[in-house]
Amino acid sequence: MNIVCLLFYWYRFIISNVVSGRSLFIWAPFKFIEVFLEGLRVGVPLRQQLTVGRYLIKQKLQGVKKYPLVLMLEPLFRCNLACAGCGKIDYPDDILDKRLSFEECMQAVDECDAPMVSIPGGEPLIHKEMPQIVEGIIARKKFVYLCTNALLLKKRIDDYKPSPYLTFSIHLDGMQERHDTSVCQEGVFERAVEAIKLALGKGFRVTVNCTLFQGENAQEVADFLDYAMELGVEGVTIAPGFSYEHAPKQDVFIKGSDVKDLFRGIFRIGKNRKWKLNHSTLYLDFLAGNQSYDCTPWGNPTRNVFGWQKPCYLLADEGYVSSFQELLDTTPWDKYGTVNNPKCAGCMAHCGYEATAVTDMLSHPVKALLTSIRGPRTEGDMVPEATPEYAREKLSSTIAGIPVSVEIAD
Ligand code: SF4
Ligand code: SF4
Repeated sequence: MNIVCLLFYWYRFIISNVVSGRSLFIWAPFKFIEVFLEGLRVGVPLRQQLTVGRYLIKQKLQGVKKYPLVLMLEPLFRCNLACAGCGKIDYPDDILDKRLSFEECMQAVDECDAPMVSIPGGEPLIHKEMPQIVEGIIARKKFVYLCTNALLLKKRIDDYKPSPYLTFSIHLDGMQERHDTSVCQEGVFERAVEAIKLALGKGFRVTVNCTLFQGENAQEVADFLDYAMELGVEGVTIAPGFSYEHAPKQDVFIKGSDVKDLFRGIFRIGKNRKWKLNHSTLYLDFLAGNQSYDCTPWGNPTRNVFGWQKPCYLLADEGYVSSFQELLDTTPWDKYGTVNNPKCAGCMAHCGYEATAVTDMLSHPVKALLTSIRGPRTEGDMVPEATPEYAREKLSSTIAGIPVSVEIAD
């Protein structure tokens, strides 16, 4: 293999890990051929990988320390479901009735200038201007992930045109019983699967967005990932649910080391399966308890009906500002993260840690390559969890409060 091939392989390796996160099950030179052929067969992901890779390398070369990777654009909170683990729908009606206009959405996209835009909700398909908003983002050559529970997709699908820049990210938390329980309504799984098939049939890019909750076991999740691959979706985004303070039910979230044990179990079963997970390999390794990361909340900044949300998509009561620059400049970033803030305890969400994993990959490409070749480690010790600073402070103030008497002998 000549040097050009090697360089090309390396570049492709870096960027394919950024956006697809699939493991390299075979040795690197063979992977080069696989990636190259894949690129020829499916030009669309290649285009996205190149765009995102170029963007990351530019930030690195320019020495930019805080840059966004994915804009989380929430143009409304209203939804047509009421899931037990949702942290977005408990607002009063006057807030649920608010919408970000087309102009406000475009301003957010331009201000932030991230290469990818994720539109969660609420349910974005309820928004009357959504087709225009999506078109506006595509016209700016940004990759848009329209996150939907799919209940309205059949009705609205003809408002959209297939594009390499548009992906429907369909909410599915598992197989029928699991998903219907998770969204608190029977029949939703069936309708979502029907919508996936419809969208794929019409030539849209489709991914599945899966959140894991209490009571899941590794085999069940593995079976679901097999099923998602059979459906023919481009990839699956998978993460543990975050314990939203505003979620209607609090006992649905998986806590502490159970998350890592669950992911190790899933990856153990997945060793010889060709799952396409839409994450970087190092983020998957982090989920399996093998990486110790601080969160990078500015990697996925959030703009919603209140403004730019401090510090991230998940914490709703930390305040809002009116511009992206102000968000970068005025958020006390050091106050957040699992070791700094009890509200962040146990968070392993991709909106906080995927950008950290990507930065780690750019700084330690050999580690990333090796992890990619062998897949996330599923045996052996996990990295120890850091003691939270706030717990340390509490402990020392408790110790300081203990009366100590010292008797001095004559
Ligand atoms: S579909 Fe999404 S936005 Fe709607 S209630 Fe469920 S989790 Fe919340
Ligand atoms: S750890 Fe980071 S991503 Fe998670 S809630 Fe805290 S600030 Fe947000």
